[in-house]
Formats: sequence, structure tokens, C-alpha cells
Amino acid sequence: MPFNKLGLMAELQRAVSAQGYERPTPIQEQGIPLILKGRDVLAGAQTGTGKTAAFTLPMLQLLTRRGHPKTCADNAPRALVLAPTRELAAQVGESVATYGAHLPLKSTVVFGGVNINPQKDALRRGVDILVASPGRLLDHAGQRTVDLSAVEILVLDEADRMLDMGFIHDIRKVLALLPRRRQNLLFS
Ligand code: AMP
Repeated sequence: MPFNKLGLMAELQRAVSAQGYERPTPIQEQGIPLILKGRDVLAGAQTGTGKTAAFTLPMLQLLTRRGHPKTCADNAPRALVLAPTRELAAQVGESVATYGAHLPLKSTVVFGGVNINPQKDALRRGVDILVASPGRLLDHAGQRTVDLSAVEILVLDEADRMLDMGFIHDIRKVLALLPRRRQNLLFS
């Protein structure tokens, strides 16, 4: 199946072509149409299968089509991606920037082990998509530098690894801060 049959907007197809992708991987072919319909998706996919694009491309499209609600604070992301390590969070952040290059959405990445202040500045400047490790996200939530009440789409990337790493309590605490009504995408 060619990429242009997946229902992705022209700005995203341009970004995908610029990466030299000729056709979607199986997880993209199956996942993207479901995610675009607003469905919850649970997928088993190893790194290297194209899973990052499988959730990032439709997430960017949904956020663009819906637009930014007027009541939404600048530091209130509409999509939240949780990832277990700083490397993975940074990698997802780069993919969001690459695939979203032709869209007016703002994204930022927060993880622990580095100075929190530049992250606070970035959140204050506005964020549509936040990629985060669970612990540092809770630090920001506790300091009210992020507002999680407007999250429409939650992605748990490498969820099995997050559980192995003992993040279950942090994830529970994050879930309690999110709106009940949201789209959930879980990759393991
Ligand atoms: P991931 O599984 O998300 O870590 O992606 C693994 C690698 O596959 C990344 O380097 C992507 O740039 C690449 N990739 C993602 N989707 C495609 C595609 N449809 N065709 C070719 N390469 C892709």
C-alpha cells in the first residue's frame, strides 16, 4: 500500500517523502487509520518497526485538524508521550519535529538528570506535544510548570520497559492528572 492511501494530510506526506519512506511499515499501515479514527490502540512492536511514525503521524494530524482550544493554557499539551529513558524520549522528540516540520505545532521533551529550568522555559513558551519521562514529568506537574488537564492523546511508548523499570507508580500518578476522556495508544 502506498503512503497516500493512509489518509494523511499533504504536510505529513511531504515530511514522509523527505525521509525517503516509500511505503508504510505493517504497524503504520494497520495503526495509522485506526488512530486517525480516534480509536484506542494497543500494539506490540519492536524498535525498528516504524512504531514512532505509526503514532506520531496520526497524532500530528489529529491535533492540527482539531486546532488549539481557546481555553487551553500555553503550558497545557494536547498530546503526551511517555517514554522510559532520556534517549528514547529525545528520539521521539526528534521524530515529532521531523514529521511535524510543515505544521504549526509546538513540541518539547522533558527528562530527568538535567537542569529543569530550560524545560520550564520551553513549557512556558507553549507546547502542543510533550514527550516526557515519567519522573521528570511529575516534578513539573508538582511545580505547576505543566498543566495536564488538556491532554487528548496519551502515548505510552515501550510500556513494558517502563513497567520493568519500576515506573508503575509514577505512571499511575500521571494518569490521575489526565482527563478521563482521551485517546490511549500503548506500544510495547
Ligand atoms: P522506530 O521503529 O520508530 O524506532 O523506527 C525505526 C526506523 O525506521 C527509523 O529510523 C525510521 O526513520 C525508519 N522508518 C519509519 N517508517 C519507515 C517507513 N515507512 N519506511 C522506511 N523507513 C521507515
